[in-house]
Order: sequence, then structure tokens, then C-alpha cells
Amino acid sequence: MPFILPSSIYELKFNTLEDMREKEKDNLSCIRPTLIIKDTKKYGIGVFAGESIKKGQLIKVLSGEIISLDECIKRVRMGEETMDDPLQIGLRLYIDLDYPSRAFNHSCNPNAGLRNDSELFALRDIRGGEEIAYDYSTTVGPNITSSIWTMKCKCGSKDCRKLLGNILTIPEKTLQQYKKSGALQKWIKWELEEIEKGGDGGLQMEKYEEIALYIRNALKTTNFNRQKIKLPVH
Ligand SMILES: [Zn+2]
Repeated sequence: MPFILPSSIYELKFNTLEDMREKEKDNLSCIRPTLIIKDTKKYGIGVFAGESIKKGQLIKVLSGEIISLDECIKRVRMGEETMDDPLQIGLRLYIDLDYPSRAFNHSCNPNAGLRNDSELFALRDIRGGEEIAYDYSTTVGPNITSSIWTMKCKCGSKDCRKLLGNILTIPEKTLQQYKKSGALQKWIKWELEEIEKGGDGGLQMEKYEEIALYIRNALKTTNFNRQKIKLPVH
């Protein structure tokens, strides 16, 4: 039977900032009754399937305020955010995820993935009651080097990578699987293609390093203290 997308998910697509803010008010409506946010009893809250979800099915469009890289840095420096919270949707573009969207945890053996800008979908059939998780590294651009962001992982899967880094730190075999399943955001796919082109791959890496340096310098100044930033254990 074909899966019919609930209209509320379409309504969450936004064209302008005004449009987005207006729709954000109804944000909770995009959590369909089939998704439950609750304590995982292991690593804080998580999102669970309230009923079975079919492979390929849209789970949720992750949403929030669209912000620039500079705004993201500002919020991290103010202590309002950590580098973990906003979802990267371009080299210099982020979504400052709202509460339900940031409740999804990471797994090194995920049952969900991201496609287009921020559409979370099922990578395989998911049973009711299962926790829904995606691979955070798939959403972290090559410009976010390990000196800016890493995350310890205790997901418990047999292929747990223990320490997460950006998209380029995902083992090749796993990355190929994500590609095959369509579990890469549009912009990440584009960046990977640019790197793979070979010829200007070097230039591309230079560009990433330049942005990384900019972020590192920006985070170094004033009262920013990396030690104070809470890193989720999962
Ligand atoms: Zn893991």
C-alpha cells in the first residue's frame, strides 16, 4: 500500500524566514502520533517509533530556525548552543533545530537517515517501540574538522566508531551504503562529488580548511571556553 504523506509535513516546508517562523508555531504538529519522545534510560531523551515504519518512509522533516554560520558561531560563543545542536545544511548554513528535531540520537548503525535538506526517513523497516537514530557524522561537513567538533559515542552497536567526526571520517564501506540508500543530504552529496572529481579536490580541501580556520579563530576569542561546552554522551 502506498504511503501517504501527512499534509502537515508538507506545510513545514518554508520559503522565507517569515514563512518559517509562522510555521514553526505549529511545529509540534509534525510529530505524528507515531513518534514518541521519552527517556532512553541510558543517555537522556530519544525519539521512539510509536508504530511500525516502512523502509523509505518519511519520519520527520527536521526543522528550526535557519541561521548563517556567523550566527551559529555567535550562539555557541554566547553559550546558547553547542556545535552539536544546529544541523548543517550548507558549508555556511545551519538549522538551529527545535526541541523535537534535536531529540533524535545518533547511532553508528542507524535505522534512519537524512535526505534533501533535513528529511529524516527510515533506512529499513522500523518496529514500533524502536528508538529512531541517524548517523550524526553524515550531517557534519568536511569543513568541520576534528579540532572543531568530535563526539564520543556509546551507541553500543557492534560497529560503534567510539569517536565521531565529520563526513570524511565515516568508513568508506558505510559511506557507500549511505550513498546507495540515498541517506545523504543534498549539500553533502554535492561536496563529496566535488572532492571525488579529483582535479580540483585539493582546492576544495583548501576551501574547507579556510572555513575551519575561520571557525576556530572565532571560537577562540573572548569568553568562549570549550571545556564548558557540554558534549552529549551519545
Ligand atoms: Zn557508536
